[in-house]
Amino acid sequence: MEYAYDDQNIFAKILRGEIPNKTVYENDYALAFEDIAPQAPVHVLIIPKGAYVSLDHFARDASAEEQVGFMQAVAEVCQITDVKDGFRSIANTRTHGVQDVPHYHMHILGGRQLGRMLQD
Ligand code: 5GP
Repeated sequence: MEYAYDDQNIFAKILRGEIPNKTVYENDYALAFEDIAPQAPVHVLIIPKGAYVSLDHFARDASAEEQVGFMQAVAEVCQITDVKDGFRSIANTRTHGVQDVPHYHMHILGGRQLGRMLQD
C-alpha cells in the first residue's frame, strides 16, 4: 500500500507552528493538543511529529523510537487529563473510518460516561 502524505494538512500546519493549538503535552516524537470541537469534557488529539497519514502507516513505517515516543505521550496525556474512570481512544482511518485530517491522530475522549462504540 502507498501512503501519500499531504504536507498542507491542518495538523502539519500545527506542527510547523503556522496554526495555534492548545498544547497538552509534547515530546520529541509527538504533540498532544485540545480538539477544536470537543465531543467530551476531555478530548485530546495525539499526533506523531513524523509525516504519517494513518495508524496503519505509522505502525508499518515509524521507527521503534517514534512508536515508543508516541505511546509515552499517550501515557502522559492520560495522566494529565486524569481519566482514571476510563476513556476511549479512536483512530479514524480513511474513507470507511471517516478520517477528516490525513495526518495520523489518536483521539482521547473521556471525562463523562460515553455511549456505545458505534451508533450505526
Ligand atoms: P478525524 O475526523 O480526522 O478523526 O478528526 C479530526 C479532528 O480534528 C476533529 O475532531 C476536529 O474537530 C479536529 N480539528 C480539525 N481542525 C482542527 C484544528 O485546526 N485544530 C484543532 N485543535 N483540532 C482540529
